[in-house]
Amino acid sequence: MNPLIDPFDRPITYLRVSVTDRCDLRCVYCMSEDMSFLPKSEILTLEEIDQLCSAFIEAGVTRLRITGGEPLVRRGVMNLIGALGARLGQGLDELTLTTNGTQLARHADALVRAGMRRINVSLDTLEPDRFARLTRWGRLDQVLAGIFAARQAGLAVRINAVALRHENEDEFDAMLEWCGRHGFDLCLIETMPLGEVTGSRADSYLPLSLVRARLRRRWTLDETDYRTGGPARYVTVRETGRRLGFITPMTHNFCEDCNRVRLTVTGTLYMCLGQEDAADLRAPLRRGDDIQAAIAEAISRKPKGHDFAIERRGAGRGVSRHMSVTGG
Ligand code: SAM
Ligand code: SF4
Repeated sequence: MNPLIDPFDRPITYLRVSVTDRCDLRCVYCMSEDMSFLPKSEILTLEEIDQLCSAFIEAGVTRLRITGGEPLVRRGVMNLIGALGARLGQGLDELTLTTNGTQLARHADALVRAGMRRINVSLDTLEPDRFARLTRWGRLDQVLAGIFAARQAGLAVRINAVALRHENEDEFDAMLEWCGRHGFDLCLIETMPLGEVTGSRADSYLPLSLVRARLRRRWTLDETDYRTGGPARYVTVRETGRRLGFITPMTHNFCEDCNRVRLTVTGTLYMCLGQEDAADLRAPLRRGDDIQAAIAEAISRKPKGHDFAIERRGAGRGVSRHMSVTGG
């Protein structure tokens, strides 16, 4: 099957699917403490999500990432993951997950049975008090138990950490060392202006160019062209043998070779994480219209890139949706 091609000649082969906007944590950079969530009537059933994913696979998408909100808090989500896993080798090359890890200990074996080989777990700090403050409701030991259960089940784990000035910027050496010791890759992410949160984005924004320069004082970072098809750019840490990724939407615009689109739990397709334009796939799906035509029309509107900015003075440019809506 030929992949979908957007107006800038980029093949769209990667779909990120948010299966819920809800979460059992309230990370300070992602959500406000009193988030309101979508009513049930608005959200797709798991069967509808499966139908839309299947339509994308038919259209040429080869990689799916399940995300949220926290995907593992949606009741029945393992049935969906199992159904999607059955498409592996039949058009689908890879099925992955981004999770906060709180429910991983229960689900790790089933993820492997569904055909998953690697997952991303978000973990911004290894210090229990800091973890509790950053996630508002989280317990570090629960997440660590999930991460080790995933490793035990045979999943390759990449730890994702959002780089936050004054919060975890003193911990990256320790995290790199910890990941090396336990066999995990680490990926650092620049904070993006998505949705209203408590506190100022400008205060917590930390350019990864700075972090990289600091890490070079202690570690040998060897260039590599390893790619997973996502936005991360990697180096290999010579001392640990593990990879270190950087996702730099702010300091280095990663749009030119974007291959991704994002489906929310209401069936809204966002062609770009950093733009408001979207296509509704729920109505055509529920009417029984031609979904392939709706997908192709949406892809024909994929913009060239985002125009995020976080300025030290002034409001900065962002989008009003929280990351938990579009999915990370
Ligand atoms: N709940 C799951 C988790 O935390 O991994 C999946 C969804 S979460 C929205 C996906 C990723 O987005 C997480 O790694 C999180 O740290 C990141 N994220 C959330 N808000 C962000 C923001 N404003 N800027 C950059 N990354 C963000
Ligand atoms: Fe939940 Fe993930 Fe957002 Fe944290 S980053 S509040 S775990 S959706």
